[in-house]
Amino acid sequence: MIIDLHTHSDASDGSLTPDALLRLAEDNNVDVLSITDHDTLAAYERISTTIPHSIQIIHGIEFSTRWAGYGIHVVGLKVDPGNATLQHGIKLQRVAREKRAQSIAARLTKLGIADPLPAVAKLANGAEIGRPHFARHLVNTGVVKDVATAFRKYLGAGKAGDIKSGWASLSDVVAWIIAADGIAVLAHPTKYRLTMTKLKALLDDFVAAGGGAIEVVCGQQEAAVTRRMATLARDFDLAASVGSDFHHPGLAWSRPGHCSKLPSDILKVWDTW
Ligand code: AMP
Ligand code: MN
Ligand code: MN
Ligand code: MN
Repeated sequence: MIIDLHTHSDASDGSLTPDALLRLAEDNNVDVLSITDHDTLAAYERISTTIPHSIQIIHGIEFSTRWAGYGIHVVGLKVDPGNATLQHGIKLQRVAREKRAQSIAARLTKLGIADPLPAVAKLANGAEIGRPHFARHLVNTGVVKDVATAFRKYLGAGKAGDIKSGWASLSDVVAWIIAADGIAVLAHPTKYRLTMTKLKALLDDFVAAGGGAIEVVCGQQEAAVTRRMATLARDFDLAASVGSDFHHPGLAWSRPGHCSKLPSDILKVWDTW
């Protein structure tokens, strides 16, 4: 079984339509897939019901949250998309995202960049505006040479475009997911550059809020990382999840379903369903 519980479509900052993502996942022999766009379930309304595919789809979403001054991502899996509490949360996040886009634009303008918001909105094309859309605009207008530089200079941690104050708290987001009968998963735990002490403090709060799983595997990673994350999962009584965090085709190292293996003796999040 190939299972991938963390991917993005063009409903957020991925580049494939939901249908194209499903087809690519099928080509990569994925059996179970969750499309976990940033703060939106819009992809699920666009999946074509007339194109047959062999994939079991798990409703999912990746929420942006704030915790102790850090921007932390929480994936909700197997959520009931119609749940009113979840829908209300999504609405709050949409407002926060729109406000944040305006603040990022204002800060970039202060740095001498012509107001990027109209072009960024065009790039997002109706999707939730994210920092990657700003990054693409900065590349398109020649301000930076590539997306990585855009994050390093303007959008990444501690830079002008790094604004996380508007996001819901970690505990609120976990509560929305639980209200929608879903499982809250701490996304890509190694990506926050937290010390082990800080990561454990985060996990303490995550578990206290009702968090149920952690991404022990995120894409292709070193065995030592998997062992370390598996130990955390066991110590904090969390189930293990796995996802590629796929955004764009054409990158050899990032494809739907292409993830390192979970240890065989760990509780898998899908075994809790
Ligand atoms: P946002 O949801 O607007 O906060 O944007 C976060 C997204 O930006 C992540 O989900 C990644 O897709 C992308 N991202 C974050 N850091 C980088 C980076 N250094 N280079 C390229 N993309 C990044
Ligand atoms: Mn993203
Ligand atoms: Mn993320
Ligand atoms: Mn993601």
